[in-house]
Amino acid sequence: ATPAATMVGSTLGAQNGVLFKGGDVLERAKDVDTVVFDKTGTLTTGEMTLTDVVALEGETAAPDGGETATDGGAVAARARLDESEVLRLAASAERDSEHPLAQAIVEGAAERGLDLADAADFENVPGQGVRATVDGREVLVGNRRLLESEGVDPSPAEGEMERLEREGKTAMLVAVDGAVAGVVADADTVKESSADAVADLRERGLDVMLITGDNERTARAVAERVGIDPDDVRAGVLPEDKADALEDIQSTGRKAMMVGDGVNDAPALAVAHVGTAIGSGTDVAIEAADVTLMRDDPLDVVKAIRISEATLAKIK
Ligand code: ADP
Ligand code: MG
Repeated sequence: ATPAATMVGSTLGAQNGVLFKGGDVLERAKDVDTVVFDKTGTLTTGEMTLTDVVALEGETAAPDGGETATDGGAVAARARLDESEVLRLAASAERDSEHPLAQAIVEGAAERGLDLADAADFENVPGQGVRATVDGREVLVGNRRLLESEGVDPSPAEGEMERLEREGKTAMLVAVDGAVAGVVADADTVKESSADAVADLRERGLDVMLITGDNERTARAVAERVGIDPDDVRAGVLPEDKADALEDIQSTGRKAMMVGDGVNDAPALAVAHVGTAIGSGTDVAIEAADVTLMRDDPLDVVKAIRISEATLAKIK
């Protein structure tokens, strides 16, 4: 692009809350054929609320009051905890986590008037959940991967997990002392303009995809709500794998614009043909991005592409 074109584009962008980091970015944005959205905080508001707490039935003791069914003692027996206890243990374990999912659990427990315990040995497992000791009990809160890597069988909760995920909620397993005890779920609101943004992009002939660390079922429920094809959803992507996923998408010659808000997204933003940080994105995301959208509005993605096309077409 000529310096004049770059100037016009950058100024037009700035007036519209779209900041391009230099003229070559404007040029690259024009060639984008695929837009890959992060889910949480990008297509959704990222403001989580605790919506469900489920206590699983415990394993039934033998009729004569003998031992509970265990697999040669290798599998811990599941004593039934009530919903309040499931939530209290989960929230106590999540207290030291800064993850929005964790904060919603802690707030939900406070709203329900529960007194949280102090947790010890807190450990955050990125993309999976947390582990902590609460009242001397070993508590895990997170996804299937977390429990499996800790040798805890998540399958007794599978029915509840699937039900909640089909509603587009992020369902998390709560394990206590080596056995799954319940499920808690957070929900997030899809941004008002997400569906319009996806429709506009498709009208312009662009492919639209969704990438998330969240599970397949939740991701597909959100995709359906905003008009993204289920086949174009990449779910369960670990934070460190988001950049690889982007490279994979681009390996067929696609030129992708990745749109994200979080620390998790920074490596993918850097790898994308054009990285776009949205709204109140983290500094790390903004740093890694080529374009920053000042507002929290997915429609500004369309604006960014339109501005680059318009200014470069006119002046060339
Ligand atoms: P996203 O890509 O949606 O920002 P993350 O990569 O941070 O998600 O996390 C992926 C998944 O790992 C979450 O959907 C959740 O199931 C689980 N997870 C991550 N952190 C926590 C936490 N603090 N508590 C419970 N579950 C968590
Ligand atoms: Mg995000």
